[in-house]
Amino acid sequence: MYDIRGLNEECGVFGIWNHPYAAHLTYLALHSLQHRGQEGAGIVCSNGKQLFGARGMGLLTEAISDEQLKSLEGYQSAIGHVRYATTGASEISNVQPFLFKHSKGDLGLAHNGNLTNAHQIRRAIESEGGIFQTTSDSEVLAHLLIKGKAKSIKANQKAALNQVKGAFSCVILNEQQLTATRDNCGVRPLMLGKVDGAYCVASETCAFTAIGAEYIRDIEPGELITFSGDNDVDYDTYTPDIHQHMCAMEYIYFARPDSEFQKHSIYQVRKALGRQLAKEMGVEADIVIGVPDSSLQAAKGFSEETGIPNEQGLLKNRYIGRTFITPDQSVRERQVRMKHSPIRDVIEGKSVVVIDDSIVRGTTSKYIVKALKSAGAREVHMGISSPPLKNPCYYGIDVSTHAELMAAQHSVETIRDMIGADTLTYLSVEGMHDVFKQYGSKGECNACFTGNYPIEIVDHLLPEVKEMKRRGV
Ligand code: AMP
Repeated sequence: MYDIRGLNEECGVFGIWNHPYAAHLTYLALHSLQHRGQEGAGIVCSNGKQLFGARGMGLLTEAISDEQLKSLEGYQSAIGHVRYATTGASEISNVQPFLFKHSKGDLGLAHNGNLTNAHQIRRAIESEGGIFQTTSDSEVLAHLLIKGKAKSIKANQKAALNQVKGAFSCVILNEQQLTATRDNCGVRPLMLGKVDGAYCVASETCAFTAIGAEYIRDIEPGELITFSGDNDVDYDTYTPDIHQHMCAMEYIYFARPDSEFQKHSIYQVRKALGRQLAKEMGVEADIVIGVPDSSLQAAKGFSEETGIPNEQGLLKNRYIGRTFITPDQSVRERQVRMKHSPIRDVIEGKSVVVIDDSIVRGTTSKYIVKALKSAGAREVHMGISSPPLKNPCYYGIDVSTHAELMAAQHSVETIRDMIGADTLTYLSVEGMHDVFKQYGSKGECNACFTGNYPIEIVDHLLPEVKEMKRRGV
């Protein structure tokens, strides 16, 4: 059955136009975007006459074999995708890029983000006889792109993009051109680069570093950039209605620390979040430690601000996947235990400040506090380098229902008690915003903290979707 929860995706996209090693560079770039999705990966290439693709389930190295990559040699343009779906719909048909064969020509599409009216459009297309092969919202966009009646590809793209609502950073490939576009609120990142004279685009600049590309700039909200010919570029927008709402969680947790947004390092942003938290927390302790890997920079910033020594108090087992994607809570708890191990010699007898970037269900914090105490910590003060996560994200981050969110259900004091910490401090929304602004942000989406959703949520308010959610479909 069609699963509305299956729409909830975080992903990484890449595209490159007119490079002799297009597929190989895409493969390398996807490697460095792997943190954005581990469920499936794919590449679609063009030789100027036809599109070809390879995709599979799992990590990139499992998803695309050496033989498959070899079969894509010699094509000049390519798009690629790594996928991270949360629940349901974990099947090969949903792995992108999608490749459609149509009388108008071939179409390849890779999308990061969530469309908030995909269900509504899908029902309308189905009622006219349209059929879908996947449960993904991205296929809805492909339908709209192909349905267009205008003569020019760009006019059809603009018409399609103006019908969808939500968050999308997309790469679209056909025989004549590569298009990169970002939704008009700029929720998900998309960057423009150049390598050996060829243009490329990526979700994060760490992909450019991996392939030796120059990071030119961030693609702006509502921008529609088309690469064609040898190296022709057309810069346009698909709408005049532009807003700035970059996802706050991209800064806090999701992006790699060696990536940059608006030419500012994520590493420095996270350190500054830690400094700001230190100002707001005002606690005395012997050491400060970060939960590896995502909170190491915030802990460093905290230490610089307070003068409390920064130690490595927790060791991460690098060979375990993300705990978050495990569907069952009891398995998730065991995984967290295997994932982070306290270093007794560092912890014993100390008053410890431990920094994590967020509390979602509370599984990690509960275990970490317990582990630190059993390693002999005298006191454990938990600092969270983001505000309480109280609201689901409809724009592509894996936080889907109020029921799953500890801070949606409980007060800070109750959470402190539940996780067993001596104190618990979250960063304020204002403090967070000040840091982002200082590091070049033009505006954020902070809906998961504040409930202020910048883009209309159509599907989740439809009675039939509410009913599907109620039944847990
Ligand atoms: P939990 O154990 O459910 O409270 O999740 C909190 C942990 O998950 C933190 O250590 C975060 O680093 C991490 N985290 C936060 N947001 C996400 C997300 N959207 N996807 C995966 N992991 C996350």
